[in-house]
Amino acid sequence: MSNTPQFQIVAEPFDIIVIGGGINGGGIACEAASRGLKVGLYEAKDFAMATSSASSKLIHGGLRYLEHLEFRLVKEALSEREILLKKAAHIVKPMRFRLPYRDTMRPKWLIRTGLFLYDHLARRGTLQASQQIAVRSTDGLAAELKTAFEYSDCWVDDSRLVISNIKHAHQQGAEVRNYCEVRSIRRGESYWCVTLYDQRLQCEVVRYARAVVNATGPWAAQFLDKCSEESSQHQMQLVKGSHLIVKQLYPGDHAYILQNEDKRVIFVIPYLDKYSMIGTTDIPYTGDPYKAQASKQEIDYLLSICNQNFAAQLEPDDVLDSFSGVRPLFGQQNLPAQKQSRDYELVMQTKRTLPVLSVYGGKLTTYRRLSQKAVEMFEEYFSNMLPSESETSTFAEATGFNPRALQRQLYKQYPYLDKLCLDRLISLYGVATWQVLHSLDDSQLPVVSDLYQCEIDYLQQHEWAHNWDDILQRRTKLCYQLSALEREALTQRPAGL
Ligand SMILES: Cc1cc2nc3c(=O)[nH]c(=O)nc-3n(C[C@H](O)[C@H](O)[C@H](O)COP(=O)(O)OP(=O)(O)OC[C@H]3O[C@@H](n4cnc5c(N)ncnc54)[C@H](O)[C@@H]3O)c2cc1C
Repeated sequence: MSNTPQFQIVAEPFDIIVIGGGINGGGIACEAASRGLKVGLYEAKDFAMATSSASSKLIHGGLRYLEHLEFRLVKEALSEREILLKKAAHIVKPMRFRLPYRDTMRPKWLIRTGLFLYDHLARRGTLQASQQIAVRSTDGLAAELKTAFEYSDCWVDDSRLVISNIKHAHQQGAEVRNYCEVRSIRRGESYWCVTLYDQRLQCEVVRYARAVVNATGPWAAQFLDKCSEESSQHQMQLVKGSHLIVKQLYPGDHAYILQNEDKRVIFVIPYLDKYSMIGTTDIPYTGDPYKAQASKQEIDYLLSICNQNFAAQLEPDDVLDSFSGVRPLFGQQNLPAQKQSRDYELVMQTKRTLPVLSVYGGKLTTYRRLSQKAVEMFEEYFSNMLPSESETSTFAEATGFNPRALQRQLYKQYPYLDKLCLDRLISLYGVATWQVLHSLDDSQLPVVSDLYQCEIDYLQQHEWAHNWDDILQRRTKLCYQLSALEREALTQRPAGL
């Protein structure tokens, strides 16, 4: 028996309890709740705290996966790109990618074939086709680079994609809680008994459900082995990937995909208007995924590839910030990380009609289809599920989203607000910007920078933000905008937020 006070909350059992509030847990909770199921979603820390806020933030087919003949994954990812461009229009943006050509790397015919497949493997709506272009002297690339290939993919605010899914799940009736770690799942006579520790209430809570989804990402195998009577059917290979933030490296709003001699590619992506984000690496990892950090070797590796391709030369001191995430890969243990599949697998383990489904692997890009397939696997247990609408439905923030029109209306309605502040809000909240600002009047001053109390209130009341990290790192990216002094001023504010 644990010494922790235990509250036996008497509540109606859930149909499904989802464990883990990353993109896959958030997506599955959203899909299940939209199909009429009674859902509980519990996240040990903050939503998107782990891998789902440390990605390269691309909604992409994955051009380089074609080399590993992962046609199924690339086709699915390219189709999802089209769906997400509409579904989450407020946070998913088209982006052009340039691949500078070097004759010592992949041959031109191989690149052209790859790009042809990339353009045609799935239906492409508004995204432009690929083309070969001449490098201009103003592009900022190394002088010997004369030619590049250009193709389309999309950028996404990863942690906000998670939040949009979780908000949608909540709007459909799901109970969603962050800072609640699930400590054990046990099969009872008719229900799963799920014990969680609520960090904010500082007590254990017991919940019941007819089915459980283990969407704990890098912890998926460990969770089953340690917290349930099941054992994991896959062992995961954990691979750390790091990104560096530097001052904007070149003009323009396109990204670069750079080839390296080790056959890996890295991206340089415009970030938050004034930065470039450089990543990623693939380093086998055995530590705690929450504590992953960029090592000196990773920093040197990423900078050296940049320095081979750009005229401006970067030093480690130019790195303003870095972040690292851990990819949960499954497959052959002896393959190097870059050759491991980025595909996913859903494994259902059933006894006495009480199923537990585990999610292994996956990409941000394919989360919606993964979630749809995961919930379909429960159809035999819940015969009255509604049809899935996730392919055609849009998030509330993206419904009727027309950025130009919204910008015009907001500039008019809030003439006393800085236009850059309104643009920032539109890029985070889409049409929900109206809701964020509804209690603002022209007498209010910002708390710091362009952060007003109404935005803080909105994030607390509608997006489960409980501390400054939740707000500055994941709900907004204000951590990059505030000075050290402003951040310090915030943490000194009484009563938490
Ligand atoms: C460096 C890097 C770059 C990437 N770039 C891209 C990209 O550009 N595009 C793309 O499509 N994909 C990308 N990916 C892949 C993508 O980010 C991941 O596939 C995805 O985020 C995994 O989501 P998840 O929900 O499975 O895991 P996570 O986001 O890690 O979520 C799992 C959650 O479970 C919680 N949890 C763990 N144990 C418990 C417990 N006992 N109780 C409650 N909660 C628990 C954790 O706190 C965590 O929040 C990238 C991955 C990495 C590492």
